[in-house]
Amino acid sequence: MAVPSAADRGAGAPPPIRALPPQPGRPTLRKAVAIALAGAIFFFDTLSPAGIAVAVLYAIVIMMSVDLCDRRGLMLVSLGCALLTMLSFFIGHGLSFNDGPLLRCFVSLAAIAITTLLALRNQRATEILTESEWRYRRIFQTAGVAIWEEDFSAIQSALRNLRQRGIADIRSYLAANPQFVQNCISMVQILDVNDAAVRLLGARDKIEVTASLKSFFLPETVESFQEMLCAMFEGKRSFAYESAIQTVTGERRAILMSATFPPETESYRNVLVSVLDTTERDRAQRALQQAQSALAHVSRVSTLGELTASIAHEVNQPLAAIVTNGEACLRWLDREPPELGEARACVQRSVSEGRRAGAVVQRLRDLSRRSDPRIVPLDINAAIEEAALLVDREASDHGVSIKLDLEARLPELRFDRIELQQIVINLIINAMHAMEKVAGRPKEVTVESRAESPAAVRISVCDRGTGIDPAAMPRLFDAFFTTRQEGIGLGLSICRSIVEAHGGRIWAENNADHGGGHGASFHILLSTAAEGGR
Ligand code: ADP
Repeated sequence: MAVPSAADRGAGAPPPIRALPPQPGRPTLRKAVAIALAGAIFFFDTLSPAGIAVAVLYAIVIMMSVDLCDRRGLMLVSLGCALLTMLSFFIGHGLSFNDGPLLRCFVSLAAIAITTLLALRNQRATEILTESEWRYRRIFQTAGVAIWEEDFSAIQSALRNLRQRGIADIRSYLAANPQFVQNCISMVQILDVNDAAVRLLGARDKIEVTASLKSFFLPETVESFQEMLCAMFEGKRSFAYESAIQTVTGERRAILMSATFPPETESYRNVLVSVLDTTERDRAQRALQQAQSALAHVSRVSTLGELTASIAHEVNQPLAAIVTNGEACLRWLDREPPELGEARACVQRSVSEGRRAGAVVQRLRDLSRRSDPRIVPLDINAAIEEAALLVDREASDHGVSIKLDLEARLPELRFDRIELQQIVINLIINAMHAMEKVAGRPKEVTVESRAESPAAVRISVCDRGTGIDPAAMPRLFDAFFTTRQEGIGLGLSICRSIVEAHGGRIWAENNADHGGGHGASFHILLSTAAEGGR
């Protein structure tokens, strides 16, 4: 194992917030200095016998004025310097235009003009920069998302150090050295935070937020920070992670944390970490899920009401078999001598029928139970077979036959068994309704399962009923959409919410549109990639 570096061992208290750049000197003092300097230059230029272009030094006065006055003021200063230069010339030389002094005067005027141009350009560039910095600050401060402006350069060098020590698997390293993560948290320098961050943490002001980063950390926050270190180590440019943080009062807030990193070659001196408070969204999502599951439960129970004939048959059949076998057993025992072998066979049949009845009751209890979905690896074909069994009797009472066409080897998917059965039962019952008034062709529902790819399964329920009115197609899965007098229009909408909660897709089509004759088909596509979306 690698030897812990200084970073592993501890970096002490978090460094203070970055100091603001030093303020330039007081403007009045600087103005006075500039005026005094101009006076001094004028004095030497006029009175000094030295044959040099002293007036060139006015360039310093102009440069000093760049951040003391605006554009107009700067031009006035330059004009003033040019006039002083010419005044000195006239005082010193009158109207005798000797080559030497005249040339020096022109050189000075040219220097003043060039410096003025450069100073004006510099002033404009500074203005643009200040404006853009101001605009950035305004966006930063007023953004609805909490933003931390942080210096990660110490972390960057700690990670670089790890790489130099030959560490390639950062995850294993961090798992073995949890202290490294803690030290990296201490290395974060908070440069600034915006108002949304102060609000998110319920703090009074920025100082309270920036005082101690660690005090807002929960174990989940440490975990997300660790993930961020991995992302940085692996050279990723962006990072997003669902996590949690605690406020000043210790209240837990669910968050979505994201950051964008500069290329590895650049310094991580200014990284923006944004944090979106998802507590309310998560709460609403949980409430919605609970409501959906309650609705699905009610709909399941009411579907069971539609299946009373099937249920009675399913339970009665084994009960009747138990009675028949019991009676036969008694008859075998009454014989002289008793036929013990036959009697035993009868008792064995009774036991297995009893088990069958027990299994039926269990299935019914499962369907009517109200509990959170259990997302487990599911034998899809077995679940479909069970569901079909429950509706079978009902279907045959309506002259409908159910055909199962199930592909033997399906990819293993994770899904709640009861919810899948609810979907299949709903679709079969709908198919039965759609074939109620059909005459002149066999009433048949086919339930098909197919492996669409190594990671996806399609389940289809196809009927030979009336088909779907094209005008109804776009609203088919809307809640309370029904074309049946006794319908409520919730079945398909519940099916869709269950399928979509698992990251799947459900859709309907008329068989005629695909050269398949009468009726409609409902398809569900579930994939291992999107499964367990809840
Ligand atoms: P309900 O059965 O209470 O009407 P659903 O949401 O299950 O509610 O179905 C909504 C509508 O979709 C039905 O009223 C019907 O018009 C249409 N529909 C559903 N299944 C089929 C089908 N197999 N064939 C034709 N139309 C169908």
